[in-house]
Amino acid sequence: MGADVAAIVRGRGGAPVLESVSVSPPRAGEVLVRVLASGVCHTDLVAIDGGIGYPFPAVFGHEGAGIVEAVGEGVTRVHPGDRVVLSFASCGTCAACRSGHPAYCELFGSLNHSPETGAMAVEATGEALNAGFMRQSSWATRVLAHESNTVPIPADVPATVAAPLGCGVLTGAATVLNVLSPTAGDDLVVIGAGAVGLSAVMAARASGCRSIIVSDPLPARRDLALDLGATAAVGPDGLAEAIAAGGPVRHVIDTVGTQETTDAALAALAPRGTVATVALRPGSNRVSIAQGRLLWGRTITGVIEGDAVVQRDIPRLVDLWHAGLLPVERIVTAYGLDEIERAVDDTRAGRAVKAVLVTPEAASEATRRAADTASAPVADRPTDAGEPVGLLFTLRARTLDDAGLARLWRSLPPVEPAELRGLWRGWAVTTGHRAERMLARSGWYGKRFHSDSEVDPIVVRTGDGELVADETFSHGGASLWRIERDGVLTVAMVYDALPIVDSFTRITPDAVLGVMGGKNTADEGREFYFVLERDAD
Ligand SMILES: [Zn+2]
Ligand SMILES: [Zn+2]
Repeated sequence: MGADVAAIVRGRGGAPVLESVSVSPPRAGEVLVRVLASGVCHTDLVAIDGGIGYPFPAVFGHEGAGIVEAVGEGVTRVHPGDRVVLSFASCGTCAACRSGHPAYCELFGSLNHSPETGAMAVEATGEALNAGFMRQSSWATRVLAHESNTVPIPADVPATVAAPLGCGVLTGAATVLNVLSPTAGDDLVVIGAGAVGLSAVMAARASGCRSIIVSDPLPARRDLALDLGATAAVGPDGLAEAIAAGGPVRHVIDTVGTQETTDAALAALAPRGTVATVALRPGSNRVSIAQGRLLWGRTITGVIEGDAVVQRDIPRLVDLWHAGLLPVERIVTAYGLDEIERAVDDTRAGRAVKAVLVTPEAASEATRRAADTASAPVADRPTDAGEPVGLLFTLRARTLDDAGLARLWRSLPPVEPAELRGLWRGWAVTTGHRAERMLARSGWYGKRFHSDSEVDPIVVRTGDGELVADETFSHGGASLWRIERDGVLTVAMVYDALPIVDSFTRITPDAVLGVMGGKNTADEGREFYFVLERDAD
């Protein structure tokens, strides 16, 4: 094991700076975790700005995901080698914990905002660090957590997806699932389309809500909300009109918590409905409420961490992710741990919905995973840590089933023919389809788009390393057309001599998801999905 590093903030409002640290061995009840990924949450920013009173010099981060390296005395729930998510800690014995509400643990503050100065120190000077933030301080390569906030998960969940399950996604999704508990056909409003609000949208959709109205000032966030299942997305000024169209709703989640959003939430609420207010803002954040409005059975309730029982609810979220119903990768932007300052800045500026820091070990693991599971050309690619690769990561891990791939393809934006110009490297996502075997036999490298009317559909690498168009399998070239598939009007590549139409939607500006269509292209009912990544020509 090489030297450990942690991102240290030395004072109120300071930038996190990586320094070499030493990490103590686990004491009774503690778990030593090798961190693979760790999210950036607004609570971290509030704490950096001094809003929580957490002492400096401090290591923040409270959405850790990694691998258990060692456990202290008395720890039975996790074992070395387990993949885990780190969430909030609770005592397990107070009245709230015993009644199944550990987010309201009587010791929440002392357990989760404890300095824990014995856990981590600057390697060069021995200076003690405050490293017990949410009982993990996960902006580091190795950390000490507690058994109560360490939750085992299956190894196939990418660390960039696992990390935000510990707080941001948990808060949004579990507030819907545990507190608002809509039933199929209910209507729900989400105020604020950050990581918490968008997770609420995904959970509302998974719950079968009929209408899901989202309000957010940023157009890009509104677009993402629509992609993730919102039925309407409006600016703050448009909410009242959107509510008027369908009538007041039974469920509102307010992720912003200002006077304006509290007013908007109560105005949207039907009699006997509930507003869940979940934002953590500095100070007491006084807001006023029209008492008469509440009389009609309306409830406004504050919620911490989705009122979750982490050992029960994080595995539930993993199940939803496996089913394609909680596509967390759609909101994640990955950064290297050494890019933490940019990740924090991008979070503050709203450029990243959910920034997730990836440690060097996770970056090399992602490459290894790709080499193991995706087709050969990926193996010699450099790691993608630091790029917004959450979705590509998931596709490479090949964890989506056929229905999930179809849903994903449909939910991505369409592609314009001009975007495809140039050389692209390809790899199969669908496994076991006969097209995958055929392409592997041909030595498929990718595709080259010269113009809309001239495409090399199968580019192969010859023995002496040259990239050439192979017409043995394609029987000629191909051309580009705009054709609707599955409700999406997007670019499609039509072979000159074969009844095959490949349709594309955009993963990133440099990666598209293709699906092969046409007569007899399915293999025992399964469609063939593949990714093209832009290559240097
Ligand atoms: Zn407790
Ligand atoms: Zn958080």
